[in-house]
Amino acid sequence: MAGATGTTGTGTTATDGGTRTPPVPLTAPPPQAGPLETARAQLASAVGILGLDAGTAEMLGTSRREINVSVPLRRDDGTVELLRGYRVQHNISRGPGKGGLRYAASVDLDEVRALAMWMTWKCALVQLPYGGAKGGVTIDPRAHSAAELERVTRRYTSELMAVIGPEKDIMAPDVGTDERTMAWIMDTYSVNMGFTIPAVVTGKPVDIGGSLGRATATSRGVVHAARAALAEEGVDLREVSAVVQGFGKVGSHATRFLAEAGTRVVAVSDQFGAVHAADGLDVGALARHVAREGTVVGFDGGDPVDRDTVLALDADLLVPAAVEGVLDESAARTVKARWVVEGANGPTTAGGDRVLAERGVTVVPDILANAGGVVVSYFEWVQANQAYWWTEEEIEQRLERRMLEAYADVARTARAEGLTLRDAALTIGVRRVADAHHIRGLYP
Ligand code: NAD
Repeated sequence: MAGATGTTGTGTTATDGGTRTPPVPLTAPPPQAGPLETARAQLASAVGILGLDAGTAEMLGTSRREINVSVPLRRDDGTVELLRGYRVQHNISRGPGKGGLRYAASVDLDEVRALAMWMTWKCALVQLPYGGAKGGVTIDPRAHSAAELERVTRRYTSELMAVIGPEKDIMAPDVGTDERTMAWIMDTYSVNMGFTIPAVVTGKPVDIGGSLGRATATSRGVVHAARAALAEEGVDLREVSAVVQGFGKVGSHATRFLAEAGTRVVAVSDQFGAVHAADGLDVGALARHVAREGTVVGFDGGDPVDRDTVLALDADLLVPAAVEGVLDESAARTVKARWVVEGANGPTTAGGDRVLAERGVTVVPDILANAGGVVVSYFEWVQANQAYWWTEEEIEQRLERRMLEAYADVARTARAEGLTLRDAALTIGVRRVADAHHIRGLYP
């Protein structure tokens, strides 16, 4: 597991000892609607429900700042590779930008724009004093050594020195980055400023000011959201089966917490493949296999299945915890789950959402379901700013309370207005940001 092993992604490569060759993906990636298209369609829906004027809608749909940087990397063999890096501050009306940093070969500006926009609505929904931001570097972290990733991270950070900081924009781990990446950012920023500034990032190692409970916070939040959604229909997590897509920082811990809650996890996947056991996987043995092999592929406690068919497997609960756009219209038609709880950002396209709603599938949207990560990031930032540390128990309790309050808020709005949970969550988040704009007024 990425967080525990200190490696990137699911933990196969870029270890200090060198780069291990990853297994070859078994299937081509699914056809994806662009994440920015999805994010804009969602915003348009919220704007329509709220009846916002065109000027406000345009402001909300447009990034406040977009920084596009060259990141030259001297590779271990002495050659130079030029990478592109982005930081998008979508909105900073309610506070500093907040959002993860992604390292993936597929990163482009539109993806970062979409992810930044979702961060804005998410932070507003769970009442954090933040705007929304996101960063990315177009790089396959598995094809680079730890030393190369460190140089990329330090150069990317130094290019952004002027626009990041505890009061400006605070990064955190996302796909392909981890607590070690955050330590490099904190160190680079601090050395340049001349003193140690832990609050410039969240999701950093506990030894240098990270928060207890941060590494598992997103996954714990996903399970709190799932429990709340099931409870609305009088169902307990012990009575259901689940499929988890993605076995990285979010998916691996979500799998464990679901199993601990008594859920029968029947299948998990990662970018290389998937395993299925109708009677339930031994998730402890699976985690040990992944720590050893870097992939769920080859786990002998289940049958190998095609990576993308896991979305259509027979299970009550589906937790997409990998990448955007996997539940498009056609995939949504094949979903058998009664509940979809989005650990990933943007896993469902606008078309997929429509199909799931028509088919009576309850979707707990990303900006609610995976908000546990940014909630505990906020706790980490507060602790770092005050140089005062909370116990893990305090963190867990505060996280659960915040998640359940947000869930109740969304469920109440959905019932009162006759909306899906997605539209209710977006409406709450977007309205809070629009209110901040109107209260602050327009300068000059
Ligand atoms: P990660 O890099 O740790 O793990 C990603 C996992 O997805 C890996 O197991 C990878 O093999 C797998 N994967 C990639 N493509 C896949 C595919 N097509 N099918 C199946 N599996 C695939 O990333 P993460 O931090 O776990 O993030 C996962 C998702 O959760 C992303 O959408 C991210 O934005 C979102 N998220 C993460 C956090 C956080 O705290 N890390 C918080 C909120 C949301």
